[in-house]
Amino acid sequence: MGKLPVRLPTKSKMENKKNRLGIALVGLGTYTTGELAPSFKKTKHCYLAGLVSGSPEKIKKLRKKYDIPKRNVYNYQNFDSIKDNPDIDIVYVVLPNAMHAEFVVRAARAGKHVICEKPMALSVEECDQMIAACRDAGKMLSIGYRLHFEPYNQEMMRIGKEQPFGNINKLIAQHGMSTVKGWRDDKRMAGGGPLMDLGIYCVQACRYTTGMEPVAVRALELPKTKPEKFQSVEEALTWQMEFPGGIIAECKSSYTKGMDFLRAECSRGWAQLKPAFAYKGIKGKTSEGKMKLEKVNQQAKQMDDFAIAVKENRPSPVPGEMGRQDVKILQAIYQSMKSGDKVEIT
Ligand code: NAD
Repeated sequence: MGKLPVRLPTKSKMENKKNRLGIALVGLGTYTTGELAPSFKKTKHCYLAGLVSGSPEKIKKLRKKYDIPKRNVYNYQNFDSIKDNPDIDIVYVVLPNAMHAEFVVRAARAGKHVICEKPMALSVEECDQMIAACRDAGKMLSIGYRLHFEPYNQEMMRIGKEQPFGNINKLIAQHGMSTVKGWRDDKRMAGGGPLMDLGIYCVQACRYTTGMEPVAVRALELPKTKPEKFQSVEEALTWQMEFPGGIIAECKSSYTKGMDFLRAECSRGWAQLKPAFAYKGIKGKTSEGKMKLEKVNQQAKQMDDFAIAVKENRPSPVPGEMGRQDVKILQAIYQSMKSGDKVEIT
């Protein structure tokens, strides 16, 4: 009798998973389905291994689309049993902001490395709990700051560091959207309005362009044009951040006006990105001409970098501590918006 054929996984599947870390996406909303899940086509160090959702319909659709085995699927109740699943190395929390802290802590306690979407949490206290949970579990924590892996934004970091146009004197950072849906205008779920969601990109951009920390902030809430929609959160605001050496950042964020801009004015020239924070199509110019840089899949680069950091046991360039500092700055901006006073960041 001839040998029975042995059923091996197809070559492409084996190659696909070899040496790669498995990521489970928690929360199957717009960012997961529109950006993160499709980005795994471009990753080399990680693959989409699992899904966590409260919606059986979404699970069914994505399981089929991405060929996810049933054993790698969880809901919010049985999520903790992910600890027994060796296919999942990293949990990526892509839930509304108010749920980040709970799921990061649960993921760490389940023995998984964690990526958490921005803003890291609603308060510095929550950030501390998340950092402590990962540290206690001996697991790494990073924040979904995709622009650290994007060449045009990296060029702004280089310009700030190497100063080809001299010292930075002034920064302008603006990020807004003309409409928002769902939980984003509910303070309990979002922690605030456009500042938490979009203004955070401006805070990040000013930090990574200068390579410095703001020492004080002053903020002003703009009048609401849709007070019935934005009952519990601001609709729009402007704020100023002071950096060491007298550098001033003028920032603006809105949920009723589209904006996507970053500019550094330096002693011998300038550099700017427009759009600056988009998933695709970022464009840059300086006082010397157009920037011509590589286009990348930001999410694939970000997830691959974290997978490499885990494999090589080296720190992530976008760790929990960076997310915590942004939350601290956002809280200071809200404090100033409320009091009308300048707030020092200590
Ligand atoms: P979304 O509303 O499209 O998705 C959120 C998901 O959470 C949904 O699938 C929803 O069903 C689920 N969910 C579970 N419990 C919920 C509850 N009680 N209320 C509402 N939804 C609940 O949101 P999104 O745009 O995918 O954003 C998710 C997270 O990702 C947010 O923290 C957001 O800031 C972040 N995000 C980051 C980027 C980025 O570029 N890094 C882009 C978009 C969103």
